[in-house]
Amino acid sequence: MNANKTRILPVIIMISFILLLSGMHRPILASPPGPTEKSKVLKIVIDPGHGGKAPGAVGPNGEKEKDITLAVSKEIARRLSEKGFEVLLTRDTDVYLPLEERTAFANRNKADLFVSVHVNANEKDSLQGVETYFLNLTTDAASMKVAKRENAMTSESLGSLQLIIKDLMLNAKINESSRFASSIQNSIVSSLEKSGHERKDHGVRQAPFYVLLGAQMPSVLVEIGFITNAAECRLLHEEAYQNSIIDGIVRGISTYAAHSTFAYNSRESE
Ligand SMILES: [Zn+2]
Repeated sequence: MNANKTRILPVIIMISFILLLSGMHRPILASPPGPTEKSKVLKIVIDPGHGGKAPGAVGPNGEKEKDITLAVSKEIARRLSEKGFEVLLTRDTDVYLPLEERTAFANRNKADLFVSVHVNANEKDSLQGVETYFLNLTTDAASMKVAKRENAMTSESLGSLQLIIKDLMLNAKINESSRFASSIQNSIVSSLEKSGHERKDHGVRQAPFYVLLGAQMPSVLVEIGFITNAAECRLLHEEAYQNSIIDGIVRGISTYAAHSTFAYNSRESE
């Protein structure tokens, strides 16, 4: 690391920390039905992870992450549309889509929120549960591992710290994304509890995900379960279980949307 980078890094870490602290402890109130008069969030992009030649993580019997993410995302989109949101899917068939295309699509369409849906994997097949990520620097080895796997399809070397730092500086969506991630994570966990499927709550985490890089709106990546855990892989293919996850995500999005003042149509005047 050269002298210039050594000087700038502590400043960036401090700024990130302050942004995080300022956003973390705002309470989120009960879930509303959809966009309200006051709500500025109208347009939401849902991104089903992987697709086409990129199967994503693979389960014990060849189950593919890309199929689960597509089924779940389409239903999330349908239910959000019913609530009155405008919803766009980055893909609605089994096609390959480069990671950078996904946020570019959300930016181009001036979306207010971006949610990328994924299924987790780990060599430890006992690992199960749900976690929600937002883009940030991390030193946590487990989070880095998830980012490394999800970033596998990009030709860019993600390690490219400079790019991430530049993104953090240009685009102070970290605290909003952190609140958005909490809303979704808490909502999925409580939805699963209510339906009698208590799963491990891995909480809100942060990592450098290429698919979230450059997003001009609060954006998160949800890992809805572990495909490498045989029991959870089976659950992820069951309609009732999928419904419970979908309910949680939809509720988490609409709760956040109702209390956000950070939507695209407010960005113009900032
Ligand atoms: Zn994935």
